[in-house]
Order: sequence, then C-alpha cells, then structure tokens
Amino acid sequence: MNLAELAPDYIRAIAPYQAGKPISELAREMGLDEAAIVKLASNENPLGLPPKARAALEAAVSELSRYPDGNGFELKAAIAAKFGMNQEQVLLGNGSNDILELVARTFLRPGDSVVFSEYAFAVYPLVTQATGARCIEVKARDYGHDLDAMLAAIEPSTRLVFVANPNNPTGTLIKPGALLEFLEAVPAQVLVVLDEAYTEYLALELRADIVGFLSRFPNLIVSRTFSKAYGLAGLRVGFALASSEIVAMVNRVRQPFNVNALAQAAATAALVDDDFLARAVAVNKEGMAQLTEAFVRLGLPYIPSFANFVTFHVADAAALNAYLLRHGVIVRSLAPYNMKNSLRVSIGLPQENARFIEVLESALL
Ligand code: PMP
Repeated sequence: MNLAELAPDYIRAIAPYQAGKPISELAREMGLDEAAIVKLASNENPLGLPPKARAALEAAVSELSRYPDGNGFELKAAIAAKFGMNQEQVLLGNGSNDILELVARTFLRPGDSVVFSEYAFAVYPLVTQATGARCIEVKARDYGHDLDAMLAAIEPSTRLVFVANPNNPTGTLIKPGALLEFLEAVPAQVLVVLDEAYTEYLALELRADIVGFLSRFPNLIVSRTFSKAYGLAGLRVGFALASSEIVAMVNRVRQPFNVNALAQAAATAALVDDDFLARAVAVNKEGMAQLTEAFVRLGLPYIPSFANFVTFHVADAAALNAYLLRHGVIVRSLAPYNMKNSLRVSIGLPQENARFIEVLESALL
C-alpha cells in the first residue's frame, strides 16, 4: 500500500520548505574546505552570538538535566517589560516559525481561507495548507504587499491574514501609516499576523507603533524573532504579542516545553544586549551599501531592501547559483517563489560580502 495516501490530500499537496544549504553539506558535495565557504543564504547574524547570550548559555548548561520553564516566566517578563505589556500578552515560540504555525493550528479549520501576498514568506502557505485551510495569494505590487488588493481579497471564509514587514525574500516595507489604514479596514473577526522578523534593522521612524496598534486592534498578532538581529537562529526562539485571549487560546495548542532552556536563557540575555544589537544594525547597513554598490557597478538590478538581505535579478539565476556554489558561496535560490531570475543574498561581514562580490563578478565575465 502507498503509505503517503494515508495523509489527507491537503497535506500531500504541500511543497516542502527549502532551507538555505548548510556549510557542511556544500563542503561534502563539492569537496571544499568548510573554512573557505561563505554562507549568505539564511539571513543569519554575521556577528555570531551576542556576548551576553554566550555567558547566559554557559551558566544555563548545568541545569540541562531539568525541563525548561514551560511558562517561560523570565523571558516573558523581560519581553513584557520591554514593550510595557502584560505577560499574558506574550507568547513564546520555537522560533517565530513556531508562532506562525501555532496561530494557524489554533484558529484555522478546513474550509477557512487565509490571505497573504505573492512573494511573501514561504511558511505562510505551508502552515495554512497543513490545517486544510485554503490559501488566497494576492498579486504583489512592485514585489511588495498590495494592501488594497489584500483587503479586497478577504472573503467571508477568511479567518487570517499574514503580513510580512519587512518582507522576506523581497525586503519590501509597508510604512506605518499604510499599515494603520490597513488594520482599520480589516474586519474585526479576521486575525492579522504582522510578522516583524526584521524590524530591528529599521530606522525608528519606519517602525510601526505595535504597542499602540495592539491596544486598538484586538485581532492583531505581532510576531518577532531572536534569529536575526539578536543572533540566536540556531537556538530557535521567537515570540508574539497579542491580546491575552488570543495568547491563552494558542497556549492550549502549544507543546508545554516548546522553547528549550538554553534558548530561554540566551534570549533573556540577548534582549538587553543593546551594544550587540547596535553593532548588528551598523554592520548590516555597511554591508547593504557594499552589496548594492556592487550591483549598481555590475549593472544588476536589485529590489531595495529594508532587511538584512537583498534580492537581485540576473538573466540565469540557476546557472549563477550553481557557479556560486561551485566557488563556495551559498546564496538563496528564489525558484520556490517563482522568481526564476532572482537570487537573495544575506548581508555578511565585510570580507564575506567581498568574497561574494568577487565570485559574482567572475561569473559575469
Ligand atoms: N518570518 C520571516 C519573514 C522570516 O524571514 C523568517 C525566517 N526566515 C521567519 C519568520 C522565521 O524565523 P525564525 O523561525 O527563525 O524565527
């Protein structure tokens, strides 16, 4: 018997997520030295671990024979204090990916629909399809969210809207005013997940007043991550801010220990490592200038980005990607997004960016 047929149709229809290739895998495939490989494929923090998180991790190791605090008290208290909100409004996730999935599993059922943008983060259709709900993908405008079209796409069956701001993989931004108008227009019974995985890279005036938004819109869920600017991608920790009713409902579905003890300790420390965060943002800004200057010089169009990566266009992205891999440079193919003439490169350290530019230039000769 075909065991795959035991899964519902909507599960079998899912196209699996394609992650950035790990350095070790490319080293094995190409017979390359790991140290010679530059990975700019997963929007990770090139500075590595925040020093305060490292110290917290070392201190937490001796407690690892015990279960973590399933309620995440200290981390939630630190997050609540930072935003001036109650702990009951904070939800912890095993990465913000977990948050997206938990929200979908809590609120969606077969027959519901979910609205998101073309070119928006690939996990939105995955978590939607896994519940048997239907995806309504709205055509992008200039690679970004077309909020008017998204509003118009909301149907009576729509229970959830995903908005990525800035968006991955295009790096586009919705300004706070436009976001506010959108939230005002979304029907009150439709939940909005505002995914702010890259918000720390934004200038203050470009950031949405999420605390103000949350007080006005009980249907809003804001998700954040420690994987990007906070430098903790490997630990898997993210969080959401939302009304206490929403958080309580999602907590019924959440596995009791979804955020491990090391992740909780490191995230609590990273949240107050302001020096590290400032350095991460500065390195990103310089790296963005380094890469975009190179694209201009090489005549490669790119999508102006507000995050820690940039998507650029080439005649044959598959061939260029293969060339980069052969030369030990890992970037992200956007074929799964139907962007067949584009590649996404994460901002690295100056020398990593320089290596990428050098190999890119040699490919174009
Ligand atoms: N949202 C967006 C827009 C992302 O780009 C990512 C990471 N690629 C995530 C959420 C999930 O990241 P994590 O699970 O590491 O928090």
